[in-house]
Amino acid sequence: MKKGAAGHRGLSRGGPHHVQASGDSLEKELARPILVISRCLGFEACRWNAEVVKDPFVELLVPYVNAVTVCPEVDMGLGIPRDPVHLEDWGDGIRLIQFKKGVDHTDRMRAFSREFLNGLKEVDGFILKARSPSCGSRDVKVFPPGSGDRGAIGKGIGIFAAEVMERFPGLPVETEGRLRNHRIREHFLTRIFLLARFRGAQATGTRGSLVDFHTRHKLMLMAYHQQELRSMGRLVAQAADLPTKDLFTLYRAHLLKAVSRLPRRNSHANVLMHAMGYFSRYLTSREKSHFLTLLERFREGKLPLSAPLAVINSWIVRFGQEYLQSQHYFHPYPEGLMVLDDSGKGRDF
Ligand code: SF4
Repeated sequence: MKKGAAGHRGLSRGGPHHVQASGDSLEKELARPILVISRCLGFEACRWNAEVVKDPFVELLVPYVNAVTVCPEVDMGLGIPRDPVHLEDWGDGIRLIQFKKGVDHTDRMRAFSREFLNGLKEVDGFILKARSPSCGSRDVKVFPPGSGDRGAIGKGIGIFAAEVMERFPGLPVETEGRLRNHRIREHFLTRIFLLARFRGAQATGTRGSLVDFHTRHKLMLMAYHQQELRSMGRLVAQAADLPTKDLFTLYRAHLLKAVSRLPRRNSHANVLMHAMGYFSRYLTSREKSHFLTLLERFREGKLPLSAPLAVINSWIVRFGQEYLQSQHYFHPYPEGLMVLDDSGKGRDF
């Protein structure tokens, strides 16, 4: 990633580093997710061995978000290059150790993490470096006390990542490795752009903006969680009886819960079939059959959601279907991010 092209701003050690694309309207700016990203993922050669990790998806994503980069190890005061750290299980807790010299950085890392995270005014999600003892959000090797870097006895969570999940429960947290899987990537992108749009509605602070948000996300919420959709509908119906601040807070709690898990493929397929119903009388039997084949391949996990969505979107444009056009389900995030490639690896969702 070209550091200059992304436009680093405010590169003071210890504070968030903001990376922003410029020139967007206020409306687009409000809908731009605020993402915290591990800095070694293309922004700076800050790994222990002074290397940088080029990640094509992070590179693709950066122009669409307001990126706040962090390197917890460097920002808390370690140098580049430096002796590597790893996690050790001391029985009474997991420690972050520079194992060549046996230096314990756990307390320093926790203090830095809390200060950094408390300093974030708004955030919609995190992309953290996989398997790092500081940033890794799962599957980080854990070693016995006083060991070298061999003979792992289990898996754990990096110290910074653990603080992230404690401070921001319910927010999307992923690693660049998991985001190579198209289903995880679609779910992550859908959530961060949804949360950014909600932040935009909340910033206006009016009941009308919440009603509009809810209306435009009905099909998306139907695919994710029908029960939560009903609860949110009841909340919106009572909007006039609640103070606006409470209304947005309650709604956000439901929203985070509603989109916390991947929707089932069948739920998506039901929403897509419902959408096809708007066009079926205008379509030829070959067009319908092509769509149903795509849908079946999606159900079987052989195609990403973006494939049948692209077909519905083309019909929305062709027939000028205004209701579906207003539904974010059909354009959950910018088209430029709808890449179809996949790691091909099975993942634990
Ligand atoms: S994984 Fe985290 S701590 Fe390690 S170099 Fe990358 S940003 Fe820094």
